[in-house]
Amino acid sequence: MALAHCINCHRLFNKALKDICPDCIKKEELQYMACRDYLREHMDCTLQELHEATEVPTNLILKFIREGRISTKGAKNFEYPCAMCGKPIKVDTICSSCQDQVKRLRESGSGSAPPAAARPNSSTAFHSHIRRD
Ligand SMILES: [Zn+2]
Ligand SMILES: [Zn+2]
Repeated sequence: MALAHCINCHRLFNKALKDICPDCIKKEELQYMACRDYLREHMDCTLQELHEATEVPTNLILKFIREGRISTKGAKNFEYPCAMCGKPIKVDTICSSCQDQVKRLRESGSGSAPPAAARPNSSTAFHSHIRRD
């Protein structure tokens, strides 16, 4: 039996399905439904408002969005950080410039990330908060 600590509450559980224990899966499911329902009724809300209304941590809300479980399509005020550079975006999980970068990486066929500073034509779009993880 594969025992593991739940990454959420650190309880020991049988790691058959996920990284979190059944209790936390249930809890996350409720949090997900709260977010989904609130967003459905408040299409003009922001990430902060959704977080305050549902008391769901923003990083969990972002996880739902990035997993594609919550759609923010049509929510015109809803912005969240790009998963790569942190720039505010409204659709997808990463911004268009990061998408370009990922695409270029795939096309070049090499698995190694080029240094962000080496990108051509990016002097104005170059932010100090680019993360390299
Ligand atoms: Zn747990
Ligand atoms: Zn980005």
